[in-house]
Amino acid sequence: MFEGVNASDGIGIGTAQVAVEPDLSYTPSTHQDTDEEEIARYKSALDAFSKKTEVQADRMKVSVGESEAEIMTGHITMASDPFMVDEITNRIKQGMCAEQALDEVCDMFYSMFDASDEQLIRERCADVQDIRAGIMAELLGKQLIDLSVLPEGSIIIVHDLTPSMTASIDKENVAGIVTETGGRTSHSAIIARALEIPAVLSVKDCCTSIRNGDTLVVNGTKGEVTVNPPADELERAKKAAAASAAEKAALEAYRGKPTETADGDKKLLVANIGNPDDATGATEHDAEGVGLFRSEFLFMDAKELPSEDDQFAAYQKVALRMKDQPVIIRTLDVGGDKEIPYLNLQKEDNPFMGFRAVRYCLNNPDQYKVQLRALLRASAFGDVKIMLPLVTCIDEVRSAKALVRECMTELDAQDVEYNKDIEVGTMIETPAASLIADDLAKECDFFSIGTNDLIGYTMCADRGNDRVSYLYSVYNPAVLRSIKRIVECGNDAGIMVGMCGEAAADPLLIPMLISFGLGEFSVSAPSILRTRKIISQWTKAEADSLAETVMALKTADEVKCALAAAAK
Ligand code: PEP
Ligand code: MG
Repeated sequence: MFEGVNASDGIGIGTAQVAVEPDLSYTPSTHQDTDEEEIARYKSALDAFSKKTEVQADRMKVSVGESEAEIMTGHITMASDPFMVDEITNRIKQGMCAEQALDEVCDMFYSMFDASDEQLIRERCADVQDIRAGIMAELLGKQLIDLSVLPEGSIIIVHDLTPSMTASIDKENVAGIVTETGGRTSHSAIIARALEIPAVLSVKDCCTSIRNGDTLVVNGTKGEVTVNPPADELERAKKAAAASAAEKAALEAYRGKPTETADGDKKLLVANIGNPDDATGATEHDAEGVGLFRSEFLFMDAKELPSEDDQFAAYQKVALRMKDQPVIIRTLDVGGDKEIPYLNLQKEDNPFMGFRAVRYCLNNPDQYKVQLRALLRASAFGDVKIMLPLVTCIDEVRSAKALVRECMTELDAQDVEYNKDIEVGTMIETPAASLIADDLAKECDFFSIGTNDLIGYTMCADRGNDRVSYLYSVYNPAVLRSIKRIVECGNDAGIMVGMCGEAAADPLLIPMLISFGLGEFSVSAPSILRTRKIISQWTKAEADSLAETVMALKTADEVKCALAAAAK
């Protein structure tokens, strides 16, 4: 059995699909066979590529959609284009090996598309790269990763699951995910939870130790992966999977119920989303709004800065979908582990403490104003609120609010509608913001505690680094004191205090958050009903008495044990 980080709950049973990035390197050389033989070798690789792509396109038509499938058939058309084929065969006739001929011609097409003024044409560069990799893999006899067309009951084994890889996953056929890197709050974990796929991350060397076709049990709740278990163990796992499905069904009793403590104190229970379509998942899971829309995913999915109209359309879609419910949209949180290549940010030695998030945005005010104007325009269609990431000082809030006012003046001049009383709040996710929370509360309309980063920065433990994961825990007294202080400062100032870090859905922590006086819980959509259930189990007096004991404890282990012992 392998142990790793329990990143997404549930038990997945299925067959391993090891997705190893193939090595597509080759030695450029002159070919040894006749020109005709080398051209035939190329044509048979092209043929194999086209046939595979056609099968993929057919499957995608059903599983993903017509337009995505068309991208695949477009690859076949481009690769078989007589001009491209002629350019390649001509090079082979000059003595080049097929691999080098393909590479050179793809480079030529890439530069041609890349130089275009039209975005649509520039976007074809990605198609060239896909074609190059696809045919090259055939020439070299290698297999490429394709997560969009997996057989039913697949368990993906991969070194790291990037957001773009995750976006292509065919959710229906994936029973589990196992990776070699990443922690509970890494973006692959967050996305796996949103997709409701059991996931265990940071399983050392899983790509080499697990083989294609192995039968696996992925216990995403415990963080365990069992390879080829004996029949009795497999039977037990199947029973446990059935029990977890039953528990999920039982939570349906909380659908449509108000979110309140056992003594009737109302809380707001909202969802974290990463793209406009997730808003549908949020309402399906009975969320009472959106507590965090990570707008950076819009930027990460694009090939260049999304225009004001594109952003507006995305924000408006969420606002309309959530009707009158609150929708907190966080402005671009770039940097750290969220790279956006076209922003061409300089490499930094310590990117998590570098030029990122609100720091980057305030330094690029014209670009930031595009987003702020889009957000303001969307506020005419619902209860949209603006949230600033990674704030460390009051100046940042004041500068951002000044830009919001500038945008308002511009929109007024153009007679464009927006909510003149739009709320602007901040994430509290740095120790600095926590320490000045009393002053920040006077400048902000709301707080949302970002425990994912707050834990990391408070404990000086990178959230993705396995070697310091023993320190990365919300149960550390330092983190708990910080959270308590933030909630108290916000409540004293009369502003709403919520939490959108993963800790908001931690069943053990919820009574502490009730005791501190947290007003809003923003969790991944699949955690909504369970969070409502746990909130409903505690009275304020019970939570206070537990908090009194727990806040006197000295270590994270003691805190966790005390909370586990008190759990209902
Ligand atoms: C956080 O830091 O808690 C948070 C919600 O932001 P992100 O996970 O996107 O950094
Ligand atoms: Mg954060």
